[in-house]
Amino acid sequence: GSRAAAGRVFEGVAAARDVVLAAADRLGEVDAVAGDGDHGIGMSRGLRAAADAAAEAAGAGAGAGTTLVRSGEAWAEGAGGTSGALWGAALTAAGSALGDDAAPGSTEVVRAVRAGVDAVLRLGGARPGDKTMVDALVPFVETLEAGAGGGDGTDDALDRWRSAARAAADAAAATAGTSASLGRARTHGDRSVGTPDAGALSFGLVVRAVTGDLAP
Ligand code: ADP
Ligand code: MG
Ligand code: MG
Repeated sequence: GSRAAAGRVFEGVAAARDVVLAAADRLGEVDAVAGDGDHGIGMSRGLRAAADAAAEAAGAGAGAGTTLVRSGEAWAEGAGGTSGALWGAALTAAGSALGDDAAPGSTEVVRAVRAGVDAVLRLGGARPGDKTMVDALVPFVETLEAGAGGGDGTDDALDRWRSAARAAADAAAATAGTSASLGRARTHGDRSVGTPDAGALSFGLVVRAVTGDLAP
């Protein structure tokens, strides 16, 4: 039912929070190479607020979509920074697209992810290759969409999510070989070459953590 789906949203956000809290120092160090070093702090604040909001919404009987929307609003407010605004926009768009149907299927989930990615593309204006989180978001959603239409069982959907999450993490690691062209990092020129983008790295962590099989 919708309560079960909202509970799964909370569990996913809480798992992401725990993994990101454990990786916060590293995310800050990576952001410090060509940015301002606050990415671990921002992601920790955002995910703490998002998980608290998800617990409250799910506990009050909200559906999965509304629970995601509340998480996104809390994330943007709690985190600040560029990534906080983008994650907030992504989760609110994804939650609106998902809706509060009792048992959303994998087709609805993929559509929701696409809505979240499109919100980031629209709001941030980055494109693949600019060395931002977009470099991980795009392969994530494209891998999910390529698998759509496969088996609709929960295990099939989970397998596809895991493949997409691996693609995102691989793409995030590969940003180390690229040079930043947007945002704060741009002003530091090629200093970022050899270091991955912090926001792409944390995106890979989040999507791998939400299925519960990445230990903090
Ligand atoms: P801030 O840059 O405000 O300090 P964070 O350090 O939390 O915010 O986040 C930085 C990350 O945000 C970058 O590593 C990058 O992945 C992402 N980012 C920055 N600008 C954009 C943009 N225009 N579009 C998409 N992602 C962006
Ligand atoms: Mg920063
Ligand atoms: Mg900052």
